[in-house]
Amino acid sequence: MIPAQFDYLRAKTLDEALSLLAQNEDAKILAGGHSLIPAMKLRLAQPPLLIDIGRISDLAYVREDGGQIRIGAMTTHYQIESSELLKRICPLLPQCAAAIGDVQVRNKGTIGGSLAHSDPAGDWPAAIIALNAEIIAASKNGERTIKADDFFVDLLTTALEPDEILREIRINRSSGRTGQAYAKMHHPASGFAVVGVAANLSLDADGSCQKANIGITGVSSKAYRAAAAEAGLNGSKLDEQTIASAASHATDGVDANGDLFASAEYRRHLAEVYVKRAIATAIERAG
Ligand SMILES: Cc1cc2nc3c(=O)[nH]c(=O)nc-3n(C[C@H](O)[C@H](O)[C@H](O)COP(=O)(O)OP(=O)(O)OC[C@H]3O[C@@H](n4cnc5c(N)ncnc54)[C@H](O)[C@@H]3O)c2cc1C
Repeated sequence: MIPAQFDYLRAKTLDEALSLLAQNEDAKILAGGHSLIPAMKLRLAQPPLLIDIGRISDLAYVREDGGQIRIGAMTTHYQIESSELLKRICPLLPQCAAAIGDVQVRNKGTIGGSLAHSDPAGDWPAAIIALNAEIIAASKNGERTIKADDFFVDLLTTALEPDEILREIRINRSSGRTGQAYAKMHHPASGFAVVGVAANLSLDADGSCQKANIGITGVSSKAYRAAAAEAGLNGSKLDEQTIASAASHATDGVDANGDLFASAEYRRHLAEVYVKRAIATAIERAG
């Protein structure tokens, strides 16, 4: 399919992109183009203007700063997958990146684009929730910080305002004994998550769980925190029965999606199974 007609402007700096966005309220930001262009080709999106931020190289970085991990919005999935710093201090991020699409998608797609798109089957939202990340949104009027729990509002809808650009993701570096894992059932055709579970556990020396953080994608219209499952783990020794009991609450209060590939009931079942897998792997990786 061929997209509807549109204008195209390439911003050289973030300030320029923010000015263009402020002047053109129906414009869309173009990052890696791997969600927006397919949507435009199907005419599900028909923006009159694209503002390309793909050449703003200072929006692509992974660094540690004062105990925080900072990731620029234009950092590609592959840059995160291959980051030695992240493999060492936040392995959930490279694991999640490696589960996205294929090599071409990971080379072009960006974490900022993926979060801003809020695809209900996208992988990053689950990890970002499990890591209690903060999202820095920039506009002509300044910046604000949005907690991951508040960022995903609904299907393809985030807390970003039309004049805002997602500039950076911030994650507090965890201290003490932690275990992280991303467990995903790939859709066999698209590669997206039928269900994806990100687990980020803080553990005591004796293996008890101080704090569990679990983000789930694929099940519902947006990624969510599995609060009831977390509550079943917090303060407990993580034996098989405790994990199974907590996982049985993976979709409490959640309206599960059903489609031709997976019914709502099947997705609920998968969520329970993949919560168990993610927790078991996170414990194993905690050593
Ligand atoms: C074949 C294929 C397989 C895929 N498989 C997977 C998969 O398994 N898992 C997965 O999670 N994803 C998958 N994707 C999606 C891929 O990860 C995309 O890269 C990602 O969803 C969007 O990132 P992008 O940089 O390409 O953003 P774009 O497509 O450029 O933009 C997406 C949306 O976000 C907005 N936007 C982009 N950047 C910003 C910003 N910084 N601030 C504000 N708004 C912004 C755009 O205006 C647009 O509305 C797949 C895509 C394809 C084509």
